Formats: sequence, structure tokens, C-alpha cells
Amino acid sequence: MIDKFGRKIDYLRISVTENCNLKCIYCIDENNILNSCNNDILTDDEIVKIATECARLGIKKIRITGGEPLVRKNIESLIYKLKCINGIEEIYITTNGVLLHTKIEDLKKNGLTGVNISLDSLNKDRFKKLTKFDKLQDVLLSIDKALELGLKVKINTVIVDDINKDEIIDFVNLTKDKNLDIRFIELMPIGAAKNYKGTSNEEINQIINKNFKNIKVENKSKRSGPAKYIRIDNYKGKIGFISPISSCFCEDCNRIRLTSTRFLKKCLHYNYGVDLKKHIRSNISDKDLNELIYSNIYDKPQEHLFMEDCDNKENKYMNQIGG
Ligand code: SAM
Repeated sequence: MIDKFGRKIDYLRISVTENCNLKCIYCIDENNILNSCNNDILTDDEIVKIATECARLGIKKIRITGGEPLVRKNIESLIYKLKCINGIEEIYITTNGVLLHTKIEDLKKNGLTGVNISLDSLNKDRFKKLTKFDKLQDVLLSIDKALELGLKVKINTVIVDDINKDEIIDFVNLTKDKNLDIRFIELMPIGAAKNYKGTSNEEINQIINKNFKNIKVENKSKRSGPAKYIRIDNYKGKIGFISPISSCFCEDCNRIRLTSTRFLKKCLHYNYGVDLKKHIRSNISDKDLNELIYSNIYDKPQEHLFMEDCDNKENKYMNQIGG
């Protein structure tokens, strides 16, 4: 469907839990973890019902996220049910990779198209400092297993000044022999991240340019989304830059979000969204649900205003919204 600014909306991100098995310093508020209990979150049937109406309105791609989506019970069967919806062509998951190696074969059998694995350090001690858990080996094992199974693999990395800037080149070097893409995502000032200073993608690009001579800019494809890609000549994978702060891509934004507890959110930045759980638990008809979703997507805001003071700013943490 087309929103009021003429954007084609065909991508739904579904958060399936707020809970996470890591506690990344810029993502979760360690002192105030308000994990929702099972009764609060949307059930599999409710998620499928919403996704079905979204697919009728033109959603083709779904990404499952959280919290950590792999801690949700029976995530494999939810993925299967979503993949079976008429109109859904691709289904991806964004995960920290800790449990992925134990579930990936079933996820693939159930229809998963690809995985984004979040990883901010390749150093064991730093990984533990950033995430509060000693799980780097599990994440690396998951990356290799996903590649072995032939899934599309993208590594999402957030670079934070004074924490992991010295690892930029190590991340780029992962693309030399492995058929995976690294994407540097700029830190957005949401929740705990307000206490940190993200490194801009411009600076990351400059560091890469100083260290490598043979860099090619990749043509933008339909699948690139908001990322701009380069490649080091003869390296297997690409390096992407997703720059919501330094180079806002709202004018091409094609996504909406469903939070694990209830809300259909039109933009990451704003604190409002329609409470679909309330309507579904009051037995709204499919037709009325469809119209409600339609009118909300139509009204998607023109752009985020992360760097400005404004009303209605989202004050939840990233794990609660769905990253
Ligand atoms: N647990 C899963 C994972 O780690 O991929 C999914 C949820 S996590 C919130 C999704 C992604 O959001 C991670 O790559 C994380 O680095 C990123 N993230 C969290 N807070 C962020 C922020 N303030 N700005 C940019 N990215 C952020």
C-alpha cells in the first residue's frame, strides 16, 4: 500500500518478545528491566492474524526481532505460520546469535530466508563487557552454521566512540573470506543509547578508506534497503552503511513495526501507535482490523526527528520497541 507521502509500504518488523539473553549496554536499561510476562505479549495466533491483514495490504517481507526473538517458545512454528501467509515472500530474523546455532536448521526448514546477526566486538573480553555475557564463541559458531546452510547472513555492528572503534578494520576483514555482509548501523539516541556517543558512518568510511586502497562502490539494488554498500576488491562480502542519523532515509522508508505487547508503530522515533491487542481481544472483525491497519499505515509520519526536541518522542528502550 501507499502512504500519504507516496511511499510504498511492504515491510513489517515484528517484535516477538522484550526479553533478551544479553544485556547490551546501549540497548537495555539494566536497572529497570520491565520484562513483559507471557500474558502481555501477543500470541502466535494474534501475530498471524495481524500479519495476514498486513499482507492483504501489500506487506511482502517480514523481519522477526525483539528483545531476542530466539528466546520465544516455539519461534520455529511461528515462522512457519507467517511464511504460509498468502503474499509473504520473505521472512528474516534479527538475532544476537547466541542460540541460533541450536535452532538454525529448524528455522531454515520452516521457511527462514536469512539472518541478521548483531555483533559489536570480536574480542572475547570486550564482548562480555558490552553484553554482560561470555557468549562470543556461540555467536561465531552461529555465523558459520548459517553460512554452511546457505542462508543470507548480514552482521549488524554498532560502533560506539571509546568502545569498539578500534575494531572497524577487523569487521571489514570478516568480508574477505566469508560470504557475508557487514553493516555499520549508526547509534540512535533511544533509551540507554542516549548515554553513549555513536561513531558516524562518515568517520567509519574514512577509517576504511585510509586502510584499504581497492574499494568499489556497489550499485544500489532493490534489496539494499537503506544501506549503501562498498566492497573491497576481491573480498567475498560487502560493507554496508545504515545512517539514520547522518543521512536520514525516511523518504524511502517502507517499514512498519509491531511491538511484542500490542502496538502497530509507524515510526521508531514516535511514542504512539495503534493498540491492536485491545481490538483483537475485543473480537474485531477481519475487515475492521484491515481498515484500522490501513488508516494507520496511511498516516505514517514524514520523518523521524531524533536530533530535535519534539513532542511524542519514544521513551522506551530498544528491546521494548523491537530493534
Ligand atoms: N536481540 C536481537 C539482536 O541482538 O539482534 C534483536 C533486537 S536488537 C534491539 C536489534 C539491533 O538493534 C541490534 O543490532 C542492536 O545493536 C541494535 N540497537 C539497539 N539499540 C540501538 C540504538 N540505540 N541505535 C542503533 N541500533 C541499536
